[in-house]
Amino acid sequence: MDLSAIPRLPLLDLPSPIEPLDGLARHLGADLNGVRLFVKRDDLARFGLGGNKLRKLEFLLGAARAEGADTVITVGAIQSNHARLTAAAAARSGFACELFLTRSVPRSEEAYARNGNRLLDDVFGATVHELAAEADSLALAEARAEALRAMGRRVYVFPSGGSSPVGCLGYAACASEILAQAEAMGLGLAQIVVPNGSCGTHAGLAAGLKALGHNPRLAKSYAVLETGQRAEAITLNKAKATLALLSADLSLTADDIHIDGAHRGPGYGIPTAGMLEAVRLLARTEGLLLDPVYSGKAFAGLLHDVRTGTYPDGAAVLFVMTGGVPGLFAYPDVLAG
Ligand SMILES: *Cc1c(COP(=O)(O)O)cnc(C)c1O
Repeated sequence: MDLSAIPRLPLLDLPSPIEPLDGLARHLGADLNGVRLFVKRDDLARFGLGGNKLRKLEFLLGAARAEGADTVITVGAIQSNHARLTAAAAARSGFACELFLTRSVPRSEEAYARNGNRLLDDVFGATVHELAAEADSLALAEARAEALRAMGRRVYVFPSGGSSPVGCLGYAACASEILAQAEAMGLGLAQIVVPNGSCGTHAGLAAGLKALGHNPRLAKSYAVLETGQRAEAITLNKAKATLALLSADLSLTADDIHIDGAHRGPGYGIPTAGMLEAVRLLARTEGLLLDPVYSGKAFAGLLHDVRTGTYPDGAAVLFVMTGGVPGLFAYPDVLAG
């Protein structure tokens, strides 16, 4: 897999570390069923408070720069981590940034509307447009881009979660990074686990694994936005489109995409008991922070699978810490105490 000809704007210190969860293992004891749990620290970063969107933004902002853009626009929910990191990376790289944020999550707390990621969007200097739940944010973003272009600006629009095929390349590259680290550490990985929101993280990993001659099912995700079935269809399409950028002769089928939809709960951004347990457990045994919307629910799924014996004794399982820490400050009503 050769990404050297594809424009990329470096934003990260790579590779991100892989670490064992020794404190969690001591706490879980026999409940681990002999599984060896590791985390990949994609929550670490030099700026912007970090998270998985920075890997996508390396390629998205690389493409924007290659096209001569001076302004980037993206869309998301009010507490979008992708919007916050787009604002931070744009500020750092000299692009103007506009965000179209939808009130799509049914939460009425002041903290959800104003704190966490939404506060940081303002601090990073983005122009924020807040929209009603049912608004077509991408259509409004495209219309705004046209208006700015008519005034002479050069504008690049990123979709929700940055999960265009170009954005997904960030996690295709990450697949190669993980395989090299696992080899150097002597970890025979049984599974790489990620949350699934806009499907780009899983799609990129699946495409990268396929391009590198590995089984794409080594990557598994827990759906937190779409239902499992819809997430499978969207992830497959995005993985195919990403793989097409990497190789003309390889392809993927539905069997290559491994998604569990059982831990999303009632919907995107709505807390679950499993999420609360997972966030507190990792904080109290490792000092590590999951987030309430994505990684908390995915880690709850992983804990469930480990406890119920999904993996054989001795299996090494890698959970990608995808960031999202500012989201914790949007959920004080459920997390306090
Ligand atoms: C966006 C996000 C995800 C999910 O990634 P997708 O590529 O959208 O599926 C996971 N964790 C966090 C913290 C995120 O912000």
